[in-house]
Amino acid sequence: MNAYLYAMQEKSFPPAFEQRMRSQLGDAWNAFANIHSTDSPISIRLNSQKTGAQPIDLLSTPDMHSKIPWTENGYYLKQRPSFTLDPSFHAGAYYVQEASSMLLEQAIKQCVGNHEVVRTLDLCAAPGGKSTHLLSLLSKDSLVVSNEVIRSRATILAENIMKWGYSNVVVTNNDPEDFQRLNGFFDLMVVDAPCSGEGLFRKDAEAMKEWSVDNANLCSLRQQRILHDIWPALKEDGLIIYSTCTYNPEENANNLRKFLEEHDAEIVPLQLDKAWGIEALSIGYQCFPHQVQGEGFYLAVLRKKEAQPGARLRVAKNVFHKPVKLLADYQQWMTPADQTFLQFKDYLLALPASLTIEMEFLASLLKIVSAGTTLGTVKHTKLIPDHALALSIYLNKESFPSIEVDKEEAIAYLRKDVFWKEGLTKGFSSIQYKGFTLGWVNVLDNRLNNLYPAEWRIRMAANS
Ligand code: SAM
Repeated sequence: MNAYLYAMQEKSFPPAFEQRMRSQLGDAWNAFANIHSTDSPISIRLNSQKTGAQPIDLLSTPDMHSKIPWTENGYYLKQRPSFTLDPSFHAGAYYVQEASSMLLEQAIKQCVGNHEVVRTLDLCAAPGGKSTHLLSLLSKDSLVVSNEVIRSRATILAENIMKWGYSNVVVTNNDPEDFQRLNGFFDLMVVDAPCSGEGLFRKDAEAMKEWSVDNANLCSLRQQRILHDIWPALKEDGLIIYSTCTYNPEENANNLRKFLEEHDAEIVPLQLDKAWGIEALSIGYQCFPHQVQGEGFYLAVLRKKEAQPGARLRVAKNVFHKPVKLLADYQQWMTPADQTFLQFKDYLLALPASLTIEMEFLASLLKIVSAGTTLGTVKHTKLIPDHALALSIYLNKESFPSIEVDKEEAIAYLRKDVFWKEGLTKGFSSIQYKGFTLGWVNVLDNRLNNLYPAEWRIRMAANS
């Protein structure tokens, strides 16, 4: 039996989808259909601020990986490892992300660069693939507002942002229309829109079961509404990077064509190497799984040409305060000099000094889930270091004693198991695994208080 027939016995495409794709793809239909009977590629993107030039275990032998051509730090893995049992995964050394969606990198490199200071909104951000990528690509003075409308998903997003370790980011939990309070504020918006998910059919058979013509049409209308809602918050000459993981023109090029009829904007072309196999459409670019090593993905860049008055950053009442006097020498806990420290309730936050006014402005208008890096919790005049500080790319490792652990001990730590090592200094110490900080312990007289966040604890045994 040929691969296509076999695959179709396992999972059948919805007939209306198949009919449209056959006419969209013509002769390429068989190649497209057959690829759905193969395994999805596994890929990761390194956090170069944490890994530096040091390769992580997963990439330690060249035959275990190859580079994703349109990225600097993206790699395919030959097989799927247990990410849960890799301590460097929990340290934020890399993000597990589908390869095609890393095409965002080309849009940023070609249209923004890494020297500009840009106010960025990642509107549909959970679980955090695009936001962590943006943080790696943009200048460190740029602001990234990473937003997710669904509260439970915003919590997951905040965790992934914390692991990535940057401080120029705020996680929000708002509806797209809430951004109309920020007219003319953003230079760049990424709209990785909720879609009918056709591009994920190989990876996720459930997406295929949930697909219907009606649902795809609903998605298209929702995407139009989202673009309409956030448009006023974009500056004149600002950019929108619009993407979906679907092939349906109604959710992609046709949607943008309609938008261009109603708004003064232009499409910004990208230069993509032909050898990558990414198809240039009348509007935007499409990754097909039979042409690239990745799933289905669509991306286009728009520039706003309409006049748009800029935002005035006025704040009636400050949300953040100057920190109370603390015994801890906390300013030494982070390395760069340009961080500023602000207090919110009992939390001491660190963020780039240049972004203080923006943070105040956003906090007065949006529902904030996290802002900057939480350095610690204020207890009277003491400061208890926060897990976010352990994961920060700015942690000054010299300011705390550290405990080196091997893989088994690292997993015991991540499971919140009790463990003990001789010759430790009393007080807060960081746990180090191969140069990556995993978190904190408090060393007492004859035991370690494991401070790994209970809700993040791994539940797998080391040898599973
Ligand atoms: N950008 C994410 C990443 O790279 O990890 C993936 C985003 S996913 C394709 C789309 C997101 O849009 C989901 O997290 C979903 O909860 C959110 N969403 C759903 N309905 C929405 C709406 N009406 N407005 C804005 N976002 C919505």
